Amino acid sequence: MSDRLLDFTQSPLGKQIAGFLGMPTPPKLRRAKAGYAAQPLQGKTVLLGGGSAAQLSSALVQALNQMGATITVSSELPGLAPVKKAATDAKVPLKTETVGEGAYAYVFDASGIEGTDGLRQLYDFLQPRISKLAANGRVLLLSRAAADAGSVAGYTASMALRGFTKSLGKEIGKKGATVNLIEVGAGAEPTIEGALRFLLTEHSAYVDAQFLALTKPAKGAVVDQFVSPLSGKVAVVTGAARGIGASIAETLAREGATVIGVDRPAEEGALGLTMSRIGGRGLALDVTAPDAGERLATEVGKIDIVVHNAGVTRDKMLRNMPTHWWDQVLEINLGAIMRINERLFKGALNEGARIICISSIGGISGNAGQTNYGATKAGIIGYVEALAPQMAKNGGAINAVAPGFIETQMTAAMPAVPREVGRRLASLNQGGQPVDIAEAVTFFASPLAAGVNGRTLRVCGQNFMGA
Ligand code: NAD
Repeated sequence: MSDRLLDFTQSPLGKQIAGFLGMPTPPKLRRAKAGYAAQPLQGKTVLLGGGSAAQLSSALVQALNQMGATITVSSELPGLAPVKKAATDAKVPLKTETVGEGAYAYVFDASGIEGTDGLRQLYDFLQPRISKLAANGRVLLLSRAAADAGSVAGYTASMALRGFTKSLGKEIGKKGATVNLIEVGAGAEPTIEGALRFLLTEHSAYVDAQFLALTKPAKGAVVDQFVSPLSGKVAVVTGAARGIGASIAETLAREGATVIGVDRPAEEGALGLTMSRIGGRGLALDVTAPDAGERLATEVGKIDIVVHNAGVTRDKMLRNMPTHWWDQVLEINLGAIMRINERLFKGALNEGARIICISSIGGISGNAGQTNYGATKAGIIGYVEALAPQMAKNGGAINAVAPGFIETQMTAAMPAVPREVGRRLASLNQGGQPVDIAEAVTFFASPLAAGVNGRTLRVCGQNFMGA
């Protein structure tokens, strides 16, 4: 489904007319055209700053240097001393900022900041420079998790960063730029580079105003395989015939995984076409079949990545909701996931396996007419939280992606007015593409997300629903 306003306002004449009429002009988002690169920030300038008690500067300088960024600092920035020391220790060149130059990304190490004085340092860093942020640029803040802050003033400042992030997102979305916050738990430093490789690149074009919590990686977990990060992995994707599932299958294959796509027998033809395009294998299987887990375990063999994407809507007000619609949505969107996993946990998963479930912002905000759908999608958020410790014991992880409004057959079937509202009520002023969800799923499936477990990441262009 195409977004006519976006197409129109991107044409030269459309741009002029939209400007003249004061119409909203959704920015054109730059998305990754290929797999993860060794040096994705080659030729890009990143301005790095921090609070005066910054603790993550070494990890940041090293990661940005590995990514090929030109790291710039300004002589009058707060937190310059820790950044400079980290660069000297690691023999990483720092360039001095040219006044008014701007940058592709502003990265601020907010770990160790306390109270209003600490927050003032963030203001001093970003306020004079924010209007010079590149179109499609990135602002990234890093903090200690509030619970690890060690003081009331530190805890307060860590939480304040969330409000700052959400508000700034609503200011810079117009130019396709995003802001996100990484909360680094104790022992999670080795996983920072992986998170940066996602959040500072075009792989995260539609991830905006989110908080990503990193925790200590599982013992023995790979944290530094950044190119073809899924090579040698076997991935199962449900609902893979079309829409978001097809894009997930394609993106996992792009990063080296062998994909087994699952869809309902009625979709066997479309599934076959998608799978042949990516060199994968199709399995015609209804996920609600009582033997679905058994068939996956016996017909696929050992699995490294499971993506539970198959999902349906059957919308009606609760007062009119027929039992079979309630049951159908509950079974496909939630019951099948739990039953299939129960079977796969009995020896079908490789050590270090990753499970990714697809939730929805509808499970966070709730929608009239979606008591069934909302229950399943919120249930998924609880499910991944509850299972995270069990997955970590085997070096693995389980996470969820909560899409906002994504341009698929599911949303094309919506009535016109709610469809247009769903698209536009977001900082990035447009719906996302299936590939935006696929990129987030691929991140969760890969060593880049070695520090993430039990989380739900919204991929919604900072949609205002439930935010
Ligand atoms: P879609 O309807 O285009 O595709 C869903 C796929 O799942 C189809 O190929 C369908 O055949 C398959 N499927 C349905 N029931 C199945 C079953 N019982 N067994 C096996 N396969 C089955 O939907 P989509 O928009 O691509 O959505 C994918 C996921 O993303 C769903 O879980 C949906 O709830 C979620 N989501 C979508 C949006 C959006 O805006 N499109 C927003 C939030 C969440």
